[in-house]
Amino acid sequence: MIGIVVVSHSSALAAAALELAAQMVHGSGPRVELAAGTADGGLGTDAVRVAAAIDEVAADAPEGVLVLMDLGSAVLSAELALELRGSDAPVELTSAPLVEGLVAGLVLASTGASLATVAREARGALAAKATQLAEEPDAEPGDGADAASGTSPEASVSAAVLDEGGEGARAAVAPAAASPVLITLVDPAGLHARPAATLVGALAGFDARVSLRNRRTGHTVADASSMSALLTLDGRHGDEIEVTASGAGAAAAVAEVSRLAADGFGERGAAEGSGASGPVPAATVPVWSAVPAASDASDAPNAVDAADGGYAVAPLGVSPGVAVGPVVRMSEPVTEPAAGTALPEAERAPAAASIAAAFAVVRERLEQRAARLTDPRLAEARAVVAATAALAADRALIDDAAALVTAQGRGAERAVWESLGAFAGRLAAQGGTLAGRAADVRDLRARVVAQLRGADEPGLPDRAEPFVLVARELAPADAALLGTTRCAGLITAAGGSTSHTAILARSLGLPAVVTPQALELAAGQLVLLDGTSGEVVIAPSEERVAQASARAAFAPFDGTGATADGHRVELLANVASGPEAQTAAAAHAEGVGLFRTEFVFLDRQTAPSRAEQLAAYRPVLAAFPGRKVVVRTLDSGSDKPLAFLGGAVEPDPALGVRGYRAARRRPEVLDEQLRAIADAARDERAAAWVMAPMISTAAEARDFAAACRAHGLGTAGVMIETPAAALTAAEVLAEVDFVSLGTNDLVQYTMAADRQLAELAALNDPWQPAVLRLIRFVGEAGAAAGKPVGLCGEAAADPALAPVLVGLGVTSLSMTPRALDGVAAALAAVGIEQCRAAGAAAAAASGPGAARAAAAAALGR
Ligand code: PEP
Ligand code: MG
Repeated sequence: MIGIVVVSHSSALAAAALELAAQMVHGSGPRVELAAGTADGGLGTDAVRVAAAIDEVAADAPEGVLVLMDLGSAVLSAELALELRGSDAPVELTSAPLVEGLVAGLVLASTGASLATVAREARGALAAKATQLAEEPDAEPGDGADAASGTSPEASVSAAVLDEGGEGARAAVAPAAASPVLITLVDPAGLHARPAATLVGALAGFDARVSLRNRRTGHTVADASSMSALLTLDGRHGDEIEVTASGAGAAAAVAEVSRLAADGFGERGAAEGSGASGPVPAATVPVWSAVPAASDASDAPNAVDAADGGYAVAPLGVSPGVAVGPVVRMSEPVTEPAAGTALPEAERAPAAASIAAAFAVVRERLEQRAARLTDPRLAEARAVVAATAALAADRALIDDAAALVTAQGRGAERAVWESLGAFAGRLAAQGGTLAGRAADVRDLRARVVAQLRGADEPGLPDRAEPFVLVARELAPADAALLGTTRCAGLITAAGGSTSHTAILARSLGLPAVVTPQALELAAGQLVLLDGTSGEVVIAPSEERVAQASARAAFAPFDGTGATADGHRVELLANVASGPEAQTAAAAHAEGVGLFRTEFVFLDRQTAPSRAEQLAAYRPVLAAFPGRKVVVRTLDSGSDKPLAFLGGAVEPDPALGVRGYRAARRRPEVLDEQLRAIADAARDERAAAWVMAPMISTAAEARDFAAACRAHGLGTAGVMIETPAAALTAAEVLAEVDFVSLGTNDLVQYTMAADRQLAELAALNDPWQPAVLRLIRFVGEAGAAAGKPVGLCGEAAADPALAPVLVGLGVTSLSMTPRALDGVAAALAAVGIEQCRAAGAAAAAASGPGAARAAAAAALGR
């Protein structure tokens, strides 16, 4: 049976279309995956997600994959996905209408029909409706509006045509070279990525080459089918754009552009509607949107603990941790080729051809690099490198450079330098997200020029010994490979906490600092960098290095967490998969304090079956035979939306139907999950504890505990993530066997500061006394009830905070396995009374800075 992938800007739309289509299928249907919406729950499409969906479906359906798309950039993303996917099953992108095509395709596919047959059926799916409405069934793309209005395409064009003097309409449209049309950009945001994508998508069906010229800037885009070119038009609100076209379909294409322009390229509706969505990423750079820019920031303590009560984001530390090592500078940048004299005519064609060849070599190298990054943990890196490779394949970029050679006699290197430099400049001038892509284009330029020179491709240096890499900024393609070198830390002159480099550094656990003085560091110089504070120490003293090294390297955790005087504190791991559980077991975690089950199913559009859940849960339990594994039920919503649990768009998802609240809407999903956990627990030897996220009342805790017990799950608990749950901890604890403090959310809700907002990072600090006092409140309730009070937020991983938390009554700490050594060492260095004194002092402090200082003093540090 073939499989199906649905690509849509809207996850709700895709899920609803699938729900409708699934009604028509009896028995088992084909595997369907939805690649819809952006990672943050917004409207948009993402080529990386589409590629992943294709691969997943292809794994079950080697006979082929049919891809249905909604519109505009969905098509572009799907096309790019064909380059990014790993599987080689046949894939067909179909122009079939999304809803009707999905219904027809799903029904036929479930009969075992071939890819070609299903594709044909899906394409013809509008016929029934057209017949019903007495329309012509096979209207060509672009004809629809005209057919509906009863006018011919030519009439539509002529009505829109203005002569240069703007004196009125002209009717004549030559068949192979349409008269210029003047359009005005009516969208307040101008010709940004989404309208550009719409335009590219719309023109794809025409046998025409469409050119645009911005009258305000004089800039011309020779081929409107290139996304990269369109974005450089710098089309702003009110700009007048001349549209010309050549080719057999010129008139129709120009008419289509006019129609789209009059409609604001579909943006007016969007702007006047919910107004919630931002621009969809550009076609040549869509995979960048796959990088979870903001989501990692909440896990990275980049906030400077400025004056207590104030909050400032550190400008420098972008990935936490300490690194010491000699400076290794990025290789010298490729120098600008001399302008030289014009090439003789005879040399131009070979020089132009050499440009295409150089682009091809660079693209191939980048593709090979991407292919080498098979480790699932480097999936993000792979996408970044693949995106740069896709940029190297952009025909418009190659043609622009070649044109400088053939038309103006530039040398090949110079032509590439000028054309890509100009493109980068235009991107930079547009600001925002696109400006961030300028560095990628310049990186591509350096690689192509080096290739033309026969020089080594500029890239990431590596050494036999650990080193600190210093660079102005890292091209994403280089940053992506950081994890494959002995780079111990990173200092760059440019970038920020949401730059690709910072995100990748964080995901690799590499400390990173951004400082304008970076380039003053000489090669070989010993430096120490602290990615938490943003500190860079040049030629640090041995003592300083020893201190920092001691901070960074601890004796391996022996598997028994305790204070110096033997007060036991279970040190557990946060995991989201079987392999992560194995890593945790190898790091001697005493068990699992938080198994985030929703991570297993984040990309699922339909609820996982019990068998699938069993397959996901058993390996985690199997990694800890005889130990405790706290399985958290699905924590859907806010920053982790699960499509199959999603409901209406909420104005504030963090305060919406998330976590346990979703069980009210879909009780059968919780029921099925508890059944699967119970099955897994029966099959494995671990002690399965179960807990619910986002509890606000004791009644919710009671209902959850009852549901667990009904499934034979004997140890039921809840997370304390809301101030309400903390303040009613005694009542909550009366209903359950244990609680676990989710400080990531508890801090967010206590401080009313979005955990994803880097600007509020200093408010989002577990050292805030308000948070510490709530933790103490819960700790005291736990002690009174004689029940465990765990803590599984990021705060558990802070070695300085661990003794404070224990002093406040926390009985177990669950963290990323990488943090176990440091936290264990911090606890082993102090006694329980010191911890209590530190907890009391920190909670009584006036702010987070004072709390840190008070705790350090109480602990004798
Ligand atoms: C928390 O909120 O602290 C927690 C552990 O849950 P999550 O980070 O998954 O929301
Ligand atoms: Mg939480």
